[in-house]
Amino acid sequence: MTSRLDEARAALRTTFGYEDFRSGQAEVIGAVLDGRDVLAVMPTGSGKSMTYQLPALVEGSLTVVVSPLIALMHDQVQQMQGFGVAAATLNSTVDEAKAKAAWRQIRAGDLRLLFVSPERLLMDGLIEALKSAGVRRLAVDEAHCVSQWGHDFRPEYRDLARAREALGGVQMVALTATADTATRADITERLFPAGRQPEIFVHSFDRPNIRLTFAPKEHATRQISRFLRPRRAESGIVYCSSRKRTEQLAQVLQEEGVNALPYHAGLDQGTRMRNQDSFLQEDGIVMVATVAFGMGINKPDVRFVCHADMPSNVEGYYQEIGRAGRDGLPADTLTLYGLDDMALRRRQIDEKDIPDERRRVERRKLEAMIALCEGASCRRQSLLGYFGEASGPCGRCDLCRGGVALIDGTVAAQKVLSAIVRTGQRFGAAYVCDLVHGKESDQIRRNGHARLKTFGVGADKPVAAWRAILRQLFAAGAVQENADGYGGLAMTEKGEAILFGRETVQLRPDPEPRPPKERRGKA
Ligand code: ADP
Ligand code: ZN
Repeated sequence: MTSRLDEARAALRTTFGYEDFRSGQAEVIGAVLDGRDVLAVMPTGSGKSMTYQLPALVEGSLTVVVSPLIALMHDQVQQMQGFGVAAATLNSTVDEAKAKAAWRQIRAGDLRLLFVSPERLLMDGLIEALKSAGVRRLAVDEAHCVSQWGHDFRPEYRDLARAREALGGVQMVALTATADTATRADITERLFPAGRQPEIFVHSFDRPNIRLTFAPKEHATRQISRFLRPRRAESGIVYCSSRKRTEQLAQVLQEEGVNALPYHAGLDQGTRMRNQDSFLQEDGIVMVATVAFGMGINKPDVRFVCHADMPSNVEGYYQEIGRAGRDGLPADTLTLYGLDDMALRRRQIDEKDIPDERRRVERRKLEAMIALCEGASCRRQSLLGYFGEASGPCGRCDLCRGGVALIDGTVAAQKVLSAIVRTGQRFGAAYVCDLVHGKESDQIRRNGHARLKTFGVGADKPVAAWRAILRQLFAAGAVQENADGYGGLAMTEKGEAILFGRETVQLRPDPEPRPPKERRGKA
């Protein structure tokens, strides 16, 4: 007797021409075919769509697929039609003839997949019409959109639980690639209320071929060109936090002979398309881009991803590095982070016009990103831990290879904190570090701060070491920006506890002295 799963496997071969299930697919498809409600958390590219496509084919029934982006729906419909699967979409951009054709197929029981946006699903009688046409299940793509805890909240997703009831309580299959543990719990609660707990599948997020490296920002442009130098024939992406920075960096790299192209949403469409096509079709192009680049880009041989600025949260970071090494071959990443990034991200969150609950969520996500940067043990272990996955040390990330044991940094921290307090909590990181090291800048002299007791208490360490210490204190929440908004630093309650010896603080050992300058950067 062949099971339904065997039938699905056969359809995978005959209809799609694929040899076998990818890891994780069979379990989810089995549960879907059993009629259970499912929440599947699987990484991008793992083949989530197959988990509703195959059941619809095997059963010969209609699945309504809710998806947030109209452009992606068109692609999916075309892709399905290319495989000979009856699929259609109904949305504002579909002309009447096509909509009529879709309805004919629905009424005749011939349509297998109907893609709609949540707004469309809830509009003028569509649900009633679909219900009487006999919908078998509702598939919710990008299910994290239902959660404020996710990174792409869409209020209309909140109505999907109700839509499912209105469709007659049909089976629901929810899919997402990005859900930390908190988001996952929230999705479950919002999509599957009261007594209809879904079966939850979490596929491993591990991408063992991607090597993770982080480095504090010293001279970002120079660090990036050093990272790119041995990789001239390879394709890769450098992510920057602003449009201006992508253009500047692309230009500097071009002048150094790198085949670099800028990409951000502010470029005109022609340039964007041209640069994207070059990246997809040629070898050895480095795309210097904002995070606007990469959605839906499927280039298997991206060999590296570099973050010129710290990503805003761990989910984004994971998505972005995940664009490397889709072919399973080794790929490298480098993430630069600095106190400026941390301060900028915190300020952006503070200034956003959003409800306080959401602000707390974003702060928590940022803190997790900062913790990953300043971490002391295996990067991959911390990253997977964030997604609720236990694992051992990878042996390949910067920390596994270089390994840092944290040391007691309380005394060093007290020197920095005291300098901040004695100068009136008004000055920025550069000023404070010069002062502690004992470098008499014009400004320090003018302010009479060279006479302070703290001036030069840290002459034993280079200024760079003090910057690293200050950054870690900022990351640990002992220091924050003051209210002036000019980048001056102030001590927090936690900082006060450290300064007065009520709390100790663990820090990384001082950074290695920098190698001699290779040549002067143009930037
Ligand atoms: P996701 O939504 O998880 O990012 P998709 O569902 O879009 O991924 O699938 C990514 C690609 O992998 C698609 O082109 C799909 O046809 C293909 N795919 C899905 N399942 C398999 C499989 N078992 N074997 C080979 N390719 C597959
Ligand atoms: Zn590691």
